[in-house]
Amino acid sequence: MEGFALFEFDQLTEGERKLIGAAQHATKLSYAPYSNFLVGTSLLLEDGSIVYGANQENASYPLCMCSERVALYTKSIQSPDKKILMMVVAAKKDGVFVPAACCGACRQVMIEYEQRQNLEFGVIMQIKPQKWLKCRSASVLVPFQFEFSG
Ligand SMILES: [Zn+2]
Repeated sequence: MEGFALFEFDQLTEGERKLIGAAQHATKLSYAPYSNFLVGTSLLLEDGSIVYGANQENASYPLCMCSERVALYTKSIQSPDKKILMMVVAAKKDGVFVPAACCGACRQVMIEYEQRQNLEFGVIMQIKPQKWLKCRSASVLVPFQFEFSG
């Protein structure tokens, strides 16, 4: 395994399916009147708690913020000392859950969170109808990543 694999929903663990449900629930917190593309994120922390994120849009489009980064930044403020074990991203369009992959900017932020907590975390996202991509680490999603070398 190169660090990622595709799974049917039923092949995922009960805990993973629960986190997918949490990410899907988080799409209700999305503010996306311009794209109508609702994205939700759930982060499982080491104490079992879940932090949610949802995309937040703005009439000035470049100011929009992705669900993943909303979740990560919220975690930094609410639970700064707790490590992330798993991240799940879900998307909804026209009332139906649809495949969506994390953007490059979020992937870069995700790997720095891994570096900060000195622990990789799993990432799950639906990338095809009925197919979920499970990665052992966010770093798998960003080869040749940018790192600050001071
Ligand atoms: Zn993003």
